Amino acid sequence: MRLLLVEDDQMIGETVLDVLRAEHYAVDWVKDGVSAEFAWRSQAYDLVLLDLGLPGRDGLQVLKNMRDVRQRAPVLIATARDAVEHRIAGLDAGADDYVLKPYDLGELLARVRALIRRAHGRPEPVYEHDGVVIHSATREVTVAGVPVTLSSREWAVLEPLIARPGAVLSRAQLEEKVFGWDDEVASNAVEVYVHGLRKKLGTGLIQNVRGVGYMVPRA
Ligand code: CA
Repeated sequence: MRLLLVEDDQMIGETVLDVLRAEHYAVDWVKDGVSAEFAWRSQAYDLVLLDLGLPGRDGLQVLKNMRDVRQRAPVLIATARDAVEHRIAGLDAGADDYVLKPYDLGELLARVRALIRRAHGRPEPVYEHDGVVIHSATREVTVAGVPVTLSSREWAVLEPLIARPGAVLSRAQLEEKVFGWDDEVASNAVEVYVHGLRKKLGTGLIQNVRGVGYMVPRA
């Protein structure tokens, strides 16, 4: 899943970036409103974490511009604990949820997961196919009842596929979900992770659609 982090504070930004990357999200970080605007216009995101107080163009205006052109990516706004009126303005402008600063990082991650789940329309986030069970909220995976540990990149490849069973994602689409601007990407990276996933989860789960991409069957 690919996230846009909009945060002008260097220290807070670095902390959040580390936490999100540790949770296997591909993250692009921008530090002002104009760059945020450029980013969401040029790249599809699964979620935008938007600080409202930004230099240049404030977060509320960025959000309004997104919604004006029906850019529907889930937006999680970040506001100071005492700034109730900012939260109200943000929600009214089309934000999906808010988090309070200073962040509780556990809560931030839970809200990110919840919003992404909601955006994919999966109130029951358990995927099952042929003995493979995947809990996307907790990232627990079992095969025939036996827990399996996935690497962070393997999870990053698997997650967008199980978010839309039956839909085919091209290699380029998967790369977009797995790698941010700052990542070096080997040309066969996705194949390598798919190969690793098949070894752990069996060959029936991730299917190759020749010349098009990859998919997992509907549960
Ligand atoms: Ca700020």
